[in-house]
Amino acid sequence: MNYSLPRGTKDILPDEVAFWHEIEQISRDLFSRYQFSEIRTPIFETTELFSRSIGDLTDIVEKEMYTFLDKGDRSLTLRPEGTAPIVRSYIQHGMFNRQRDQKLYYIGPMFRYERPQAGRFRQFHQIGVEHIGTSSPLSDAEIISLGVHLFDELGLPDLMVSINSVGCPTCRSVIEERIKQFIGDNLKNLCGDCQRRFVEQPLRILDCKKPNCDAYLSGMPDNRSSHCQECRDHFESVLSYLDALGVEFNIDPRLVRGLDYYTRTTFEILSKQLGAQNAICGGGRYDHLVQSLGGPEVPAVGFAFGMERAVMLLKDLVDTKSNGVMVYLLPIGMAQRGKLFILMDALRRAGVSCELGFEDKLKTGLKRANQLGSRFVVIYGEDEAEQNIVLVKDMGSGEQQSLAIEGVLDFFNNV
Ligand code: AMP
Repeated sequence: MNYSLPRGTKDILPDEVAFWHEIEQISRDLFSRYQFSEIRTPIFETTELFSRSIGDLTDIVEKEMYTFLDKGDRSLTLRPEGTAPIVRSYIQHGMFNRQRDQKLYYIGPMFRYERPQAGRFRQFHQIGVEHIGTSSPLSDAEIISLGVHLFDELGLPDLMVSINSVGCPTCRSVIEERIKQFIGDNLKNLCGDCQRRFVEQPLRILDCKKPNCDAYLSGMPDNRSSHCQECRDHFESVLSYLDALGVEFNIDPRLVRGLDYYTRTTFEILSKQLGAQNAICGGGRYDHLVQSLGGPEVPAVGFAFGMERAVMLLKDLVDTKSNGVMVYLLPIGMAQRGKLFILMDALRRAGVSCELGFEDKLKTGLKRANQLGSRFVVIYGEDEAEQNIVLVKDMGSGEQQSLAIEGVLDFFNNV
């Protein structure tokens, strides 16, 4: 029997974990500066929550959900995204009764049965923010600039914001009619997915990345000419606030995203260094989701970014980080181990990070201490035991001094 990882999943090994911590820490700090609070929801939810919110005809719901019956015959689904669960929670806890306006963030694993490739996994991790409670274009601009600010703080290079507006339900039917008119007789030349969407969801045709369809769609007039006045004004305001904040963007009239709940603003933050899966962050406005899941009419906007993709970019920038060991305790001779083991415990309780060496030889012990990035090595052999001292070697300067065992704790408390 050969056990290995399920396809599309990965282990995050200790060498890489430092990057994950850094991304989480910087995100948490920045979100709290922007007044977002963390929310944690279950990994699985009722299947209905996702089919209703993301849309029955989307790739996620049709093809990618990990859905199962539990022992009580309930249909449950491993969450493919974070927005619907948060909206469910917002409604279920009547958060709007206390304060309609809620700024929430989440961090955690998501699950989609996609074809794995570089930067695309079946279990992946997202960090996301949701601002529920306002339709103001200020809020769209705040969310987008928060994304840009976050990636700046992380030091991710070569990023680009793509933005579009998919309109509201009122102008959606006009937009869809125009798309159908534009495609007209060429429908037979488009792929099977596009042909199906032509009937059920014409807007999603714009999302098709297949080169043949792309060629037919590239000359399509900008949908914004079909927008109602409110949607136009809203989009113009978002763009002007972004300008005012100094956030650079490209308008991409075909950016519609793969989830049905979006209204008005949609955006992505792309990296020129990520290859085919170049979107690091995606989001937009969803003004009717709260209501469609049974809550009051409350508009909202948010984004999610993929941690695996952020780690890929960060890893290219810096070498693996090691926590480094402050003190490597190296006993020479079996009889000396117990003493250093007890000293190590006292040092750790005093807040010093340390490790005990089992090499039993000075040369190999020092080599290992070096690999671990140790600042000091405490050497304790037979001679030192007789004199009740230790040798402390500073690995930076190479200097060595002897210390009475009783003075070791004080010494490391003061370096
Ligand atoms: P979405 O939830 O589809 O709007 O995606 C938001 C972000 O999550 C994307 O820009 C990616 O960075 C990340 N993401 C989405 N799907 C995957 C996946 N299968 N594997 C890795 N990252 C993903």
